[in-house]
Amino acid sequence: NKKYFIGELNGRLYQSGDFIGTIGVIRDITERKKIEADLNEAYLKATESERLKSAFLTNMSHEIRTPMNGILGFTNLLKENGLTGDEQKEYINIIQKSGERMLSTINDIMDISKIESGQVNISISEVNVNEQTESLYNFFKYEVERKGMKISLNNSLPTIDCVIKTDIEKFYSILTNLIKNAIKYSHKGSIEFGYDRIETIHELTLLQFYVKDTGIGIPKSRQHAIFERFVQADIEDKAVYEGSGLGLAISKAYVEMLGGDIWVESEDGVGSTFYFTIPYSIDKKEIIESKTEGEIEQKHEIKKLKILIAEDEEISYRHLSIILKNIAKEIFHARTGIETIEICRNNPDIDLILMDIKMPKLSGYEATRQIRELNKNIIIIAQTAYALEGDREKAIESGCDDYISKPIDKDELMMKIKKLIISQ
Ligand code: ADP
Repeated sequence: NKKYFIGELNGRLYQSGDFIGTIGVIRDITERKKIEADLNEAYLKATESERLKSAFLTNMSHEIRTPMNGILGFTNLLKENGLTGDEQKEYINIIQKSGERMLSTINDIMDISKIESGQVNISISEVNVNEQTESLYNFFKYEVERKGMKISLNNSLPTIDCVIKTDIEKFYSILTNLIKNAIKYSHKGSIEFGYDRIETIHELTLLQFYVKDTGIGIPKSRQHAIFERFVQADIEDKAVYEGSGLGLAISKAYVEMLGGDIWVESEDGVGSTFYFTIPYSIDKKEIIESKTEGEIEQKHEIKKLKILIAEDEEISYRHLSIILKNIAKEIFHARTGIETIEICRNNPDIDLILMDIKMPKLSGYEATRQIRELNKNIIIIAQTAYALEGDREKAIESGCDDYISKPIDKDELMMKIKKLIISQ
């Protein structure tokens, strides 16, 4: 091929007999071209990432302002005179829903930043898959039926084979997110979820979970993008569906941490099926049937307790004291770590401490350590608003019996207190 005939003579280059330059110059030009191409690529990447970041921020701002609008707007309306009981209930409901929506956005942002900064650890324990899916089924059943739809569960393994070793919180979060999406993006029909045990061609055994809906579906062109973070913010018609657009990116990161894959099969306007796999790793041990929370609840009415609430924020203290009123004989209030230790020292018969971790003068961790030197029996439950990975371990290490994150859920707190009192 004449065009590509290149020759060299004494450092001079010829193409098809024509002199085209010295080797040094040619190398220079090639390098410059490469640098230019690299720069161009870096520039495109940077502008793309800038564009995604600002789309993300706009979306976040929307996702925080909208529920805030609901909370502040309806709190103001609630102050007006002459509201009927039903109106009050409706407004309170809206405030609660808005609060929950904002919390879920904040949790998503926290999760994705933890993933990005490599702060997420895996904590492996035995997980009874059937128990988890049944609990999700019961949790979502009401919401699905209220939308006039049906939900069904298809567990394929018997109890004896369904206990695997995985990270329970990540597993639960992935499945919850897929079911929530199935409900959110469907307006009719049914949702089915469950799992199968499968063998791969490499002779690995996996559990393959699926969540199938008959909802709006996802066009082919977007099926890949939905697993990327920030990308959802670009979708123009999504305004009607609330959400941070981070759920699937988080789920994908978690599935990969657990050693599996996630993908979707979907047809626009017909419905979607999301799949994910996790390795089927089991320990052939006896399965201990755990008591359900309902059973524990029913059997034990607990005695009235002397409770110390260590909390420097007035509203959080008010909230806790109202929640605990019914099980309290007496409630003490400490506003600093030092005060907490003082009150404990002067009242050795206190049964329970709700220990805020971030307190002035002395942190909840340090206060707990010092209290443990005085009293080994007192029940201490740490409470924090940070919700960071490792908080729970740090709390337990410093001597707390359990840990709960803010905003505090009344039922969850009661359950924890009852469990600890019973096991004492
Ligand atoms: P969010 O729901 O907060 O927007 P996700 O990351 O969970 O964020 O989902 C990303 C996008 O994928 C959604 O905005 C939606 O367009 C699409 N999507 C997810 N699940 C479904 C589903 N079951 N049916 C239709 N579209 C879905």
